[in-house]
Amino acid sequence: MTRFPALGACLFALLCAAPVPAAAPEATVQNPLLAPWTGPHGGLPPFDAVKVEHFRPALEAAMAEQLAEVDRIANDTAPPTFENTLAALERSGDAMDRVSSIYGVYSGNLNTPEFQAVQREMSPRLAAFTDQILQNEKLFARVAAVYDAGERANLTAEQKRLAWFTYTNFVRAGARLDAAGKKRVGEINQRLATLFTSFNQNLLADETDDVLVLERESDLAGVPESVRSAAAAAAAQRGHAGKWAIVNTRSSMEPFLTYADRRDLRQKVWTTYYSRGDHGDAHDNNAIVAEILKLRAERARLLGYQTHAHWRLENAMARTPERALELMEAVWKPAVARAREEVADMQAIADREGAKIRIEPWDYRYYAEKVRKAKYDLDENEVKPYLQLDRLRDGMFWVAGELFGFRFSPRQGIPVYHPDVSVFEVQDAAGRHVGLWYFDPYARPGKRSGAWMNAYRIQERMDADIPTLVSNNSNFVKAQPGQPVLVSWTDAATLFHEFGHALHGLSSNVTYPSLAGTRVARDYVEFPSQLLEHWLSTPEVLNRFALHYQTGRPMPAELARKIERAATFNQGFATVEYLASALVDMKLHLAGAKPIDPDTFERETLAALGMPSQIVMRHRTPQFFHAFGSDSYSAAYYSYLWSDTLTADAYEAFVEAGGPYDKGVARRLREHVLSVGNTVDPAGAYRAFRGRDPQIGALMRKRGFPAPPAESTAQ
Ligand SMILES: [Zn+2]
Repeated sequence: MTRFPALGACLFALLCAAPVPAAAPEATVQNPLLAPWTGPHGGLPPFDAVKVEHFRPALEAAMAEQLAEVDRIANDTAPPTFENTLAALERSGDAMDRVSSIYGVYSGNLNTPEFQAVQREMSPRLAAFTDQILQNEKLFARVAAVYDAGERANLTAEQKRLAWFTYTNFVRAGARLDAAGKKRVGEINQRLATLFTSFNQNLLADETDDVLVLERESDLAGVPESVRSAAAAAAAQRGHAGKWAIVNTRSSMEPFLTYADRRDLRQKVWTTYYSRGDHGDAHDNNAIVAEILKLRAERARLLGYQTHAHWRLENAMARTPERALELMEAVWKPAVARAREEVADMQAIADREGAKIRIEPWDYRYYAEKVRKAKYDLDENEVKPYLQLDRLRDGMFWVAGELFGFRFSPRQGIPVYHPDVSVFEVQDAAGRHVGLWYFDPYARPGKRSGAWMNAYRIQERMDADIPTLVSNNSNFVKAQPGQPVLVSWTDAATLFHEFGHALHGLSSNVTYPSLAGTRVARDYVEFPSQLLEHWLSTPEVLNRFALHYQTGRPMPAELARKIERAATFNQGFATVEYLASALVDMKLHLAGAKPIDPDTFERETLAALGMPSQIVMRHRTPQFFHAFGSDSYSAAYYSYLWSDTLTADAYEAFVEAGGPYDKGVARRLREHVLSVGNTVDPAGAYRAFRGRDPQIGALMRKRGFPAPPAESTAQ
């Protein structure tokens, strides 16, 4: 059955089941969104046939169809069984799965003003539709009966897990509330859906509209050629040929702040980026955030939880906000101490150069780069010519082959929604089809910033083997024609990260779609993705794929060694900017029902934490789409740290064995983590992989922080 996708997170997986060649209602004939997917590999999304005006009628028809299916299950006169209730629910909503899959692509990748109008209208209706299913009393009674009979019934382990999962989802959505309670939860969900849509649209507007156009090349003093050329392309794309545009997204902002000598322009770019959604204008998000928090607190209380954070974390690996906070606080102090050392190093360089400044947030990346050169003799500009997007992509394919036996081959003629999208078929070592990997690498107007993975269809085998369709999406700035796209080391790591999510989806080997692939606990899902980042810096990848774009020569060993030595460089900054966001997210959602002014709350919380004045939250509250663009990462931004604790500990398992390409550890990872989806409890899955619970020491070693007094268990 369909659960509506959470947009605006690092990852969003849509629940998509197999197309069913059923008798098509009339609307199907004209509307490509409703037609069963045709073509090879279990059918493919008809991206080339879709128009924005198809969405509303398709969503309406798909909702009606699924509600009819659900009614048939709820009103079945036969006693409830796993097959006639839970399996039947898994089979329901095929049309909705297909429509919502493409709706998700338009939300994230093709978000035009015409589509935004559809979203504004449909998002509350879709929330109401979901509640109509989850609040169906007859249906819930049948789900509860199957769940209660679970131990006595002759169910497989995966079926028992599905019974628990489905039952819990109903209860957590308010299935046990009285009529008035259900009604209020429904109203809150619909209002939240509208608020999330407004939040995301405001953010996109500020990212699209606030472009800094630089008139003179001298304004780009210090900025390397590859960044200049990308800025020139961005300007030309916006009708300013011959000038340079700094777009208001992370991939444009970060290189400019790292290199631009002009401090006044750095301050301008920094201010524009970190005030997204906070201008006090029509796109301001503060009132939206305040209302979201109020409604979430009310909903949590109605559902019987102390706070929204308690509700969110109940089925996470952390289980309680207290345990998540405990981990964050254990890392916060050493991270701040390291950041203060970093600032002192930067101030010393500024003083030596006679800059006569105090380091401010818009100076951090600029002077950090100078420290990197001074301390590690490492220049990002020296690294970038070796990081060609196409080669890195081939490197990821090679890693997937070495670790898991996957082979990637380009496929032509598969429908795509934009000419920039390319498609690869994935096969296993025996040449069997595993799935398709869609790649949408470039930034463009209407595409949200950041990078994410999205599954167009999830693996399952209820009635037949259905292969998955996964996609990776990034915002690399397109190069001038004929030039290779060169990416920074950080962006290369992000590329590997999203590919880790894709491999998680591609490795899925389960029966029921609701438990498949990346549909795992939020604080567990970043584990495979963060783990894959580690393979970028392996000599095997650098020697074969980090090839200079002009000479074709591999990265010199000396440069690779410098990168290795600088691995923990700037971890104070990276950890503090991240943790500040994660702590504010958690504290906002623990604050309960009292009215919150986001600006004041953010300022006071950071002051109480002792936030260094030279660093700003990675996502300030009015632009924090993880927390306010949907429910999905709300009170859950800590998940990246939680997952990284697993990641660091898991990578040490490779190192302790034969190294990063150890086949035995890779096999255990695939068997216990990547292939099982949500069919097993994550803590148990990790234990099965590692032979013990995760420990925090590896995380501290990875970030170059002092080891904790005693190895404590993060799980
Ligand atoms: Zn991720």
